[in-house]
Amino acid sequence: MPARPRMRTRSLALSLVLLAAGASAQLSTGANGGEGGPGASARAQPQDVPQFVTFTADDAIQSYTVEVINHFLAERRNPNGCAPKMTYFTSLSYTNYSMVTEMYVAGNEIADHTMTHAGKPNVSEINGNLRALNAFAGIPVSDIAGFRAPLLSWDGDTLRALHNASFTYDSSMTSASPANASNTDAYWPYTLDNGIANNCLEQPDICQGRLKLPGLWEIPMYSTFGESTSDIHLMDPWLEGRDADEVLGWLQQTFLQHYNGNRQPFGLYSHPIHLAINYPGVTNPDAIRNMLQTFLDWVQSHDNVWIVSNKQLLEWMRNPVTNEHIADVEGLGCGSPAVPEDENICNGIPVNMAGLLNRCDFAAFPWQTCYYCPATEPTPDDPVPSPREGDTRHTLPSDCQTAWFDPIANRCLCDSDNCAFTDETRPIGNYSTNLGGNTTGSGDSTGPVRAEATAPSKFNGGVPAAAWSGAALLVAALAAVVP
Ligand SMILES: [Zn+2]
Repeated sequence: MPARPRMRTRSLALSLVLLAAGASAQLSTGANGGEGGPGASARAQPQDVPQFVTFTADDAIQSYTVEVINHFLAERRNPNGCAPKMTYFTSLSYTNYSMVTEMYVAGNEIADHTMTHAGKPNVSEINGNLRALNAFAGIPVSDIAGFRAPLLSWDGDTLRALHNASFTYDSSMTSASPANASNTDAYWPYTLDNGIANNCLEQPDICQGRLKLPGLWEIPMYSTFGESTSDIHLMDPWLEGRDADEVLGWLQQTFLQHYNGNRQPFGLYSHPIHLAINYPGVTNPDAIRNMLQTFLDWVQSHDNVWIVSNKQLLEWMRNPVTNEHIADVEGLGCGSPAVPEDENICNGIPVNMAGLLNRCDFAAFPWQTCYYCPATEPTPDDPVPSPREGDTRHTLPSDCQTAWFDPIANRCLCDSDNCAFTDETRPIGNYSTNLGGNTTGSGDSTGPVRAEATAPSKFNGGVPAAAWSGAALLVAALAAVVP
């Protein structure tokens, strides 16, 4: 298994981020403990900060689930003209590996959800997933940065295993209070340098700083609220057996608690199989799909909204900038691998790999790959079995990028540091697309940035100290240092 580089380089800005994010976790009781201080907070207003929306998916990747992701995101555009990226927490049972490769090469984030969907997973479940995704889907191990525990079932050992394997973040913890509540636990992502701040009623033995894991981030999962603050919905809120219009109201109301408040990220946490068309045994979710498109259209009608992967979110957290400088955040840009269309290589790009997939005929679930088929199914005890007889395909070497590697000829079309991307990022503008069929979204394909004057602000004169969020502190800290 290739070494996972530890992403622990700390620039000045990163130090500020860690400081501020760590501090934010300590503010749950309203203590005024940030280094930025009350004076610094006056420099930053929440509406100067982007509103990030994460769309995540869990479990197996197969044709039904890829259709769902494309249905909701493929035609949308962020303010820089880039298609939104998402994070897929992938477990391997029933996963079609070649589709993981395609999702990844298209710019999405592939994250770890254990091999067999095990709650409170052991180390083999977590690390075996890394190795199998690397061998059979061609995902560089260093790019599998995130983890979510199946059934959101985790403990201190889970977090220690992630830290030991140099994961960048976990996203299994939950926030159960509205983002605009006083003493909310809807924290911005934070590092565990000072310990965990979520789920402390269920996990009291590791709270109060008892478990510190420097450098490991937590991206809390933010709840959606229904009729009251005790009407809490986390994953798939549209599956709660109520009317789709009612769920739309919940989502809009909760989004505004973030958007008009401290701009903590807002999350849509899905199990795409429940949104799939014609999946055996699943009622066709047309009403829910239409509702979600309407919601996403409505979300994108607000200024400074970005639909991002968790990895992109953390890139911004490490070097936070205001909306004015958002074009400087490289990780929010987009580009496609500049692989000539006439290259016939199995690389995750449909035009290049047509006809080249390798079929692994396992009885429980046959799957396809660009790489070799193992003689036996990957398991936590043996995540990368040797090739079946006569299969001479190769696995991705650590010095080539997925889109440029030919696993049949075992050649890399470029050196590791000169693989060319075609930059498709455009100037900041309004490229959002109305897919929900209503008129509330902004359907313009191009156009100027809309005026800021209409952006509502919950607060008069700044951020209340008791509700300081990581980002307010980040921006404040940055403003205090950078002229
Ligand atoms: Zn799951």
